[in-house]
Amino acid sequence: MAQPPPDVEGDDCLPAYRHLFCPDLLRDKVAFITGGGSGIGFRIAEIFMRHGCHTVIASRSLPRVLTAEAAGLLSASLPGFQAARKLAGATSRRCLPLSMDVRAPPAIMAAVDQALKEFGRIDILINCESVLSEAPAAPAVSHSAGAAGNFLCPAGALSFNAFKTVMDIDTSGTFNVSRVLYEKFFRDHGGVIVNITATLGNRGQALQVHAGSAKAAVDAMTRHLAVEWGPQNIRVNSLAPGPISGTEGLRRLGGPQASLSTKVTASPLQRLGNKTEIAHSVLYLASPLASYVTGAVLVADGGAWLTFPNDVKGLADFASFSAKL
Ligand code: NAP
Repeated sequence: MAQPPPDVEGDDCLPAYRHLFCPDLLRDKVAFITGGGSGIGFRIAEIFMRHGCHTVIASRSLPRVLTAEAAGLLSASLPGFQAARKLAGATSRRCLPLSMDVRAPPAIMAAVDQALKEFGRIDILINCESVLSEAPAAPAVSHSAGAAGNFLCPAGALSFNAFKTVMDIDTSGTFNVSRVLYEKFFRDHGGVIVNITATLGNRGQALQVHAGSAKAAVDAMTRHLAVEWGPQNIRVNSLAPGPISGTEGLRRLGGPQASLSTKVTASPLQRLGNKTEIAHSVLYLASPLASYVTGAVLVADGGAWLTFPNDVKGLADFASFSAKL
């Protein structure tokens, strides 16, 4: 059985990389990656760039995606890291960082215009944003409008606004960016879209109605758009990761460490995945290797969703936690 490729925990580039695919696989292509400043999106950007691609990484927080020049001017006063500088430094390909909220179509249009001005083309869109970074870190029952996010929460305690925010970012955000790219470039030139989803909705995971519903809707969108846009030579697929080490997603949604380890050990490949493994699967879908693949959901989870127990005990824990408040 193949060993997983090496990875690093934080949002840093790999110290070394051994190509499994041809290093020219995406030579001079341009990929627009939402959520490309951190976690899985960051590693997708790196692996694409290591295969010759230029990237645009877009998220709300400019410090996450800051350029080398700006970092030089402002780094003393800014928190976070400079994803674009790291990516360009490690790969010698160009990386354009843009600040944009996927809920705001005018901001998306401006960002896509800027990317087209810079590169003259966009070949690939990776929708990898998610609301995780707004969520409270510990299991929490949120009734507040502002604290919406992808955290573990029973449906009965989830605020209306929390549910809406997850749908707005994960589902509407994916539609908004796809629609803008379609209108501004893909309709006339073709293109590839990969939506990063999840397997939560496959079986109806407890405490995850918000994230599971949002991602299931995106998988449906993948099929609709593949059907409608196929004639314009646009391929649309989903990639559904399982539990991935070194990510905000696992920190927020993995649950208590002991129970996660038990579940992971009992899954078919008996380990967590890593970000490079997900990036390799996305690379396949985005590349000419998948030229006849559209409307598909590729699950990259080591078989986890087939065996993961549902978290019904978590519901009971929440009930007793809430009772003590
Ligand atoms: P992450 O590092 O928190 O990535 C999420 C990114 O989305 C962040 O860079 C964030 O940047 C951006 N974002 C959030 N709201 C946004 C908005 N309104 N507009 C634009 N960008 C926005 O999380 P991750 O764990 O790597 O997850 C990446 C993707 O994989 C997500 O779609 C997640 O659902 C999926 N996934 C992850 C796992 C896992 O185990 N980690 C498992 C299954 C699926 P800003 O805060 O700067 O906006």
